Amino acid sequence: MTSISENRRAILERMSQAVRESGREPESVHLIAVSKFQPEESVREALRSGQRVFGENRVQEAKTKFATIKQETQDIELHLIGPLQTNKAEDAVRLFDVIQTIDRPNLAEAVAKAIRKTGRNPRLYVEVNIGNEPQKAGIAPDKLAEFLTYCREKCGLTITGIMCIPPHDAPPEPFFKAMKILADQHKMSHLSMGMSADFEAALRCGATEVRVGTALFGERKVTP
Ligand SMILES: *Cc1c(COP(=O)(O)O)cnc(C)c1O
Repeated sequence: MTSISENRRAILERMSQAVRESGREPESVHLIAVSKFQPEESVREALRSGQRVFGENRVQEAKTKFATIKQETQDIELHLIGPLQTNKAEDAVRLFDVIQTIDRPNLAEAVAKAIRKTGRNPRLYVEVNIGNEPQKAGIAPDKLAEFLTYCREKCGLTITGIMCIPPHDAPPEPFFKAMKILADQHKMSHLSMGMSADFEAALRCGATEVRVGTALFGERKVTP
């Protein structure tokens, strides 16, 4: 079995290649290490190899795992990439540097309220249901403009990015390209898409950050 540090080096190399193919500089994109269901020790190993940006999909799990690590390492950037309940909005705003999953009006309101209360200022992205899948979270592509206006004008939020998880039973490229068009239309500086199986395709389509778990850490443990 390869180590996290070797996996990371190989992923960064593949990322650089894909980014060059899209005519950009490798420094312009970022690897988010998705550490959900992985033990704290794996996060520490990634840290030793130079990784600083991490993604978690549950507030409580992230809080437990990163409590000490965040105090020890100042330059960590923690992203929430999973669904957020409104009653956890304040916890999320306190803990995360980036919240990628703003996906409905009452959550936008709860996050805005938590930001006012805590004085914290996390980067905020809207999750887009780019495949229009009924079971999936996210704003439908044709409702994005309206929702961004709502976030800005009704909640006073600054949204700087969009993220998606494309349908898993279809080639991802058309969805990644559709996301890139939306990001450009709405002048989003962050475009979060691409996971272990498809991060190179996402980068060729214009992703500015990819969320990679399994290819970096290995298979996830069943429960934390
Ligand atoms: C788990 C997860 C990932 C990482 O998936 P891998 O296939 O393990 O790379 C990326 N994004 C989100 C939103 C996830 O929940």
